[in-house]
Amino acid sequence: MNTIECPRCLGKKHVDKADIERLNRQDEWLPGPCAYCEEKGFVDSNKPDEIPIDKVDLAHEVGLEELISALYERIIKMVIDGKTDHDILSELEKDGIPKELGEKILEKAKTEINKVKGKAHREVAGQYFLKGIGFLALGALVTGVTYSMASGGGTYVVTTGLFAVGGIYVIIGFFKFLSNL
Ligand SMILES: [Zn+2]
Repeated sequence: MNTIECPRCLGKKHVDKADIERLNRQDEWLPGPCAYCEEKGFVDSNKPDEIPIDKVDLAHEVGLEELISALYERIIKMVIDGKTDHDILSELEKDGIPKELGEKILEKAKTEINKVKGKAHREVAGQYFLKGIGFLALGALVTGVTYSMASGGGTYVVTTGLFAVGGIYVIIGFFKFLSNL
């Protein structure tokens, strides 16, 4: 079996910045162990005929994690920008991202976005709820205070208005909470 010096790393066993520039992959690769020769420094002499030396190999290139997380952020941004699934996937495909991978990350991104959205809504619901409780408490306080002041035969203020508003807020908060679980 004939071997030749690895044409990607030039026998160094790792791909450095110069190699990346030579292969014009500056935006895609990070320096690291050479995946082409699997850090041997040499390859079968017919390998370059079978696999181009600058082929992006998602499964083997170092920096997969970075690549995925960059992709993830990019997809989240596209979703937030209001792009449709179709637009997003075709844009990714144009960049050579496998369709299946794009779909998986898109799905995950949307789930996360919905979680965050649900959380924001739940916070709003919680605020309504607290406001409602506040009004109810205020109503009870005013009623209680004026009642005790009136003890001995006077009149006292029943703050039905505050109770009503408080009750409504509690109900709104509760339903908002339920609808965003
Ligand atoms: Zn190599």
